[in-house]
Amino acid sequence: MIKFHNTLTNEIEPFTPLKAGEVSLYTCGPTVYHYAHIGNFRTFVFEDLLRRFLESCGLKVKHVMNITDVDDKTIAGARREQKTLREYTSFYTQAFLDDMRALNILPPVLQPHATNEIPAMIRLIEDLAAKGIAYRAEDGSVYYRVSKFEEYGKLSKKKLDGNIAGARVDNDEYEKEEGADFVLWKAAKEGEPSWDSPWGRGRPGWHIECSAMCMRHLGETVDIHAGGEDLVFPHHENEIAQSEAVTGKPFARYWLHAKHLLVNGEKMSKSKGNFFTLRDLFEKGYDAMVIRYALMSVHYRQQLNFTFESLKEAREVIEKLDNCYFQCLSRLQIGCRGTDGQLQLRQAVRDIGESLSEDLNIASALAILQKIVTEINAHLAQLSSASLRECIGFFEHMDRIFGLDVASVKEIPPDVLGVLAEYAEARKIRDFSKSDALRKEIGEKKWFVKDGRPGEPSTVKKMRRAWDIKK
Ligand code: AMP
Ligand code: ZN
Repeated sequence: MIKFHNTLTNEIEPFTPLKAGEVSLYTCGPTVYHYAHIGNFRTFVFEDLLRRFLESCGLKVKHVMNITDVDDKTIAGARREQKTLREYTSFYTQAFLDDMRALNILPPVLQPHATNEIPAMIRLIEDLAAKGIAYRAEDGSVYYRVSKFEEYGKLSKKKLDGNIAGARVDNDEYEKEEGADFVLWKAAKEGEPSWDSPWGRGRPGWHIECSAMCMRHLGETVDIHAGGEDLVFPHHENEIAQSEAVTGKPFARYWLHAKHLLVNGEKMSKSKGNFFTLRDLFEKGYDAMVIRYALMSVHYRQQLNFTFESLKEAREVIEKLDNCYFQCLSRLQIGCRGTDGQLQLRQAVRDIGESLSEDLNIASALAILQKIVTEINAHLAQLSSASLRECIGFFEHMDRIFGLDVASVKEIPPDVLGVLAEYAEARKIRDFSKSDALRKEIGEKKWFVKDGRPGEPSTVKKMRRAWDIKK
């Protein structure tokens, strides 16, 4: 049975989708005003693990992630750089998509851009106005009257007591004004992008964007809505208020939130010098899958303290997985194999699935993975070709769940195998200058040679691809 922690009830609940066999998943996408940082990717990698796990359970996941390409921050950024909003945001949207691909995050089924969905937002505000919940203020903007929605605060557990009647907030992001009326439609300001609406030219507030896009693409009730913990209030609280006041139905059945990442125990900030984008880490020579592992390996509701030490540990694990996979592949292709195969791979797959069913218990799942890899390593020489194939299938299955891209190379090319055979021969007759030259030749083809222990074959491993993504 799959269980998730639901922020709405603050309990770990059994998960069943509304429609058998299908899960609708909405995750709040990036605000494309800068390169996404590793904190953002902590959340996006968690959401990717969530999706991959659901898919590994045989569920079809309809995943929608929006792109916030109009809000206070994108407008301020475009103005600062003297670009149009579209020029400015399309650059960072592309950068985000490149980063997602590098991190092996599955592309959502749909990725609506807020600026392409304005009519749906206007319709929703009209519906709120018809119910007497949206009102136009003297400044020409349209606000949500929070006191009209009795359940306001049910997600964030904030109380309306501190609310000063009629207090309004027109920033997209705010904290202190608990329960203040928030902006749905902002009246156009000089020099800002704006669209026509029944209330005059203006632009949507950030919160209405997600309500409108989520309901338009996934229906009035979505199975899972996810994001980072900072989104609980006001963003998700307001999304609930906007959507449920109109439909009278639950907007999302399960709310999942990832705890924020810290760097060396501190909040990331440019002034402290501990602010990293993915590109910063590529520049320092870290591999994308090492970064993915470091971001994924701490449970999503636990604080992930990102350190360079944690990247070192992640690198060791990735190397261990790579080494084991390529040992299996090499041995299978070289043709040296044993006759036995007493591995508990099926049991490991079941145990990993069970761990992840417990609110994505990643620590336990990864511990099982590491243990079985140690076991495969210990039995390599004895494995029959059928067992080696089974191991390769196991790694492929693990890739589908963890996305660590261990088993994407399906075959050692014949030319590499040819040079490897010559290499083994040269070593056998102790012609080390020849074997050194052959090792180099294999290296030029982007493969590593790993010498076997006495009586064991030398094998090869593919070098991981370097991402030429630049700042
Ligand atoms: P934004 O682009 O600011 O809208 O954020 C995109 C996603 O990243 C949201 O789900 C945020 O909650 C999440 N996020 C922002 N900062 C962090 C952080 N330090 N750790 C984890 N998630 C974060
Ligand atoms: Zn959102």
